[in-house]
Amino acid sequence: MDINRREFLKIAGASTIVGILGGWTAVEVLAPGELESRQSPQALNAKRWAMVVDTKRMDEANARNCIEACHRIHNVPSIDDTKSEVKWVWLEPFEHAFPLSNNEYLAESIKERRFLVFCNHCDDPPCARVCPTKATWKREDGIVMMDQHRCIGCRYCMAACPYGSRSYNWKDPRPFIKKGNPDYPTRSNGVVEKCTFCAERLDQGLMPACVEASKGALIFGDLADSASEVREILRTHYTIRRKLSLGTDPSVFYMV
Ligand code: SF4
Repeated sequence: MDINRREFLKIAGASTIVGILGGWTAVEVLAPGELESRQSPQALNAKRWAMVVDTKRMDEANARNCIEACHRIHNVPSIDDTKSEVKWVWLEPFEHAFPLSNNEYLAESIKERRFLVFCNHCDDPPCARVCPTKATWKREDGIVMMDQHRCIGCRYCMAACPYGSRSYNWKDPRPFIKKGNPDYPTRSNGVVEKCTFCAERLDQGLMPACVEASKGALIFGDLADSASEVREILRTHYTIRRKLSLGTDPSVFYMV
């Protein structure tokens, strides 16, 4: 039987729904763009989602809360071995977070801080360009998505990302999940994962989990909307972005 790709995807999608209703787990196959088209009516929308980190309010305790909230709801395993660890959001010292910062006159107090880092959801993401299976792609709202079911574990995306924002599952992550969230899929070994700006929560009308946990130190909004809080902050405060000179155009800004 001759079927084109769209017909195949429809069949695969229908099989998944049947699978879920039937009580078994199936691999969901979605084409780039199809995920957005399934949005619920209460979904939060933007032309380009962006995050501002207020680094003065993001102390280490606050950062740990954000990391914990993110990793808990996304079933990110806690693996102590740094070679195998998986992280969606974490802390980096200034020299690692901003190695290309050419502002040598920044206050010492800034350079001594650790910074909360995650995927920058770059406007020109090199990770998406190199993925051979389109397991990672940029949505229309700027979120760089990751579909582990399509990931073949080649790790080209990890080599292409200049921020180390992606983790590879060297071992089965499931035994290392502290408190599982049954509403979010777990992954298997041999696939890459990363922050998705909580796309699944935005679809339910909720802010990203880290933003909710941050006590106001993370501000999330539409970079394309001149009336948004994010834009107001960028107008009125000095902000920096990571490795800006590489041309990836990160969507994460740091108020210092
Ligand atoms: Fe891709 Fe890395 Fe940019 Fe995230 S930070 S969009 S993983 S290049």
